[in-house]
Amino acid sequence: MDEKIRNTITNLQKNNMAGYYAENTKELLLLLSTLLIKGERIGCGDSITLEETGVFEYLRNEDFTFYDKHQLNLTSEEKRAIYLKNFDTDTFITGTNAITTDGQLFNIDGNGSRVAPMIYGPKQVIVVVGANKLVDTVEAAVYRTRQIAAPMDAKRLYKNTPCVKLGKCINCKHEQRICNDFVLISRQFIKDRIKVIFINGNYGY
Ligand code: SF4
Repeated sequence: MDEKIRNTITNLQKNNMAGYYAENTKELLLLLSTLLIKGERIGCGDSITLEETGVFEYLRNEDFTFYDKHQLNLTSEEKRAIYLKNFDTDTFITGTNAITTDGQLFNIDGNGSRVAPMIYGPKQVIVVVGANKLVDTVEAAVYRTRQIAAPMDAKRLYKNTPCVKLGKCINCKHEQRICNDFVLISRQFIKDRIKVIFINGNYGY
């Protein structure tokens, strides 16, 4: 395991969050099978990392009550119902836009449906993160999220925001702006409620 990841896991523990490491997607899914209980209720945030690592597929195929926000043709009311149910899940699983080496998670969200259950509600929150999301400072976390992740996310979501054309954030006031909530999770009251799993390699953006 990379020394930087090892140090970050130590610092997460100091912030009452647990840290794990998986060498590859096989190890990741094996680890998940030890952290999740069959039949439990699971919610998820939008995450390219979870897609790329096969976690969504795993959750759909195993014996869980998975509130899958990616089902085809969901109405906005049906999506809202899933977002509200996410607060009362056993596990909420998500990626993160950035993680700092001193053990803090940083995310930008559009409607808050991803960051809100990270903060409160689910009994446990599992965050899967590639080494590419690791930065040294909160300032670097904000920068990577605004200048790298958010413009790519806006493109993925077919937004007409300026960043899609420019490839960088100009702090727009566009009606389709996706950057509304800037959330830094520094520590938890409940020890190990948040569990961060590092996976070797680059995932998501
Ligand atoms: S604030 Fe606007 S320009 Fe900047 S990344 Fe978000 S949507 Fe794009």
